[in-house]
Amino acid sequence: MKALKILTIIASLASGDVLAGETGPMPAPPAAHSFTVGALRVTALRDSVNVVANDGSVFGKDVGSNAVAALLRGVGLRTDRILLSVDALLVRSDTTVVLIDTGLGPAIPGSLGASLAEAGVKPEDISTVLITHVHGDHIGGLITADGNSVFRNAEIKIANPDWIWLQKQPEMKQLSSAISHQVKVFDPGEDVAAGITSVPIAGHTPGHVGYMITSKGESLLDIGDTAHSSIISLIEPEWTMGYDNDAEGGKSSRRRILNELSQSRQLVFAPHFPFPGVGWIERENGHFKWLPKR
Ligand SMILES: [Zn+2]
Repeated sequence: MKALKILTIIASLASGDVLAGETGPMPAPPAAHSFTVGALRVTALRDSVNVVANDGSVFGKDVGSNAVAALLRGVGLRTDRILLSVDALLVRSDTTVVLIDTGLGPAIPGSLGASLAEAGVKPEDISTVLITHVHGDHIGGLITADGNSVFRNAEIKIANPDWIWLQKQPEMKQLSSAISHQVKVFDPGEDVAAGITSVPIAGHTPGHVGYMITSKGESLLDIGDTAHSSIISLIEPEWTMGYDNDAEGGKSSRRRILNELSQSRQLVFAPHFPFPGVGWIERENGHFKWLPKR
């Protein structure tokens, strides 16, 4: 059954369509897409795919599913669900191997481990794990199915407000206990690794951050969950997003960051945009649009 489901998802991803009636996080084939930022070797890694029902609970919570359907119809997409990629980012220098976010982990199971292997990296090679925020699709891959830490040689860096919040969640107890000896907290805005600075982006979770990666005059911003859909979140950034803890905070951050990115022409990695999720934000008629890097 699981093999059949994976094959169906592969076919679905290839055709741009998804399995009728299926929603929620699903397996996706491994993929690793490498490029350079200055002297750094950067790789987008596929973990899984999240099929979100257009039922008014996630996208356009304040405007309703009919408005979301009209937007999707307007750009020629199916109106009953939204397909989100779930990806992570690897940043390698001569001396460090940094992984930003870890996918959904054993619950699906996610393909992050296989994608890392495609990039020639073993879990024990990772020197630092950076977390954008502590939602399951970003931290699930920190532990194995039997609850052990996956990246056992790594420091795991989490913004202090999110680490406090994570430890208060009873259902995350196994995960937070398994990694606690590796966790190093930071304040949003601090430098977290060589060439990598955390960027406070409030609203999605208490300590949600992006990461600015800089080397030799080039840069890439991992925007975390500032925007989830390369279509809806950019055309209507002020529609309420059901995944944002603080809906108003999420909207104003989304508007502000998209504005800044469209003006600065900053290269972006967006973990939920179509794989590999690398490109630019452009302004168009008072809205925004995604320009993928080819
Ligand atoms: Zn997410």
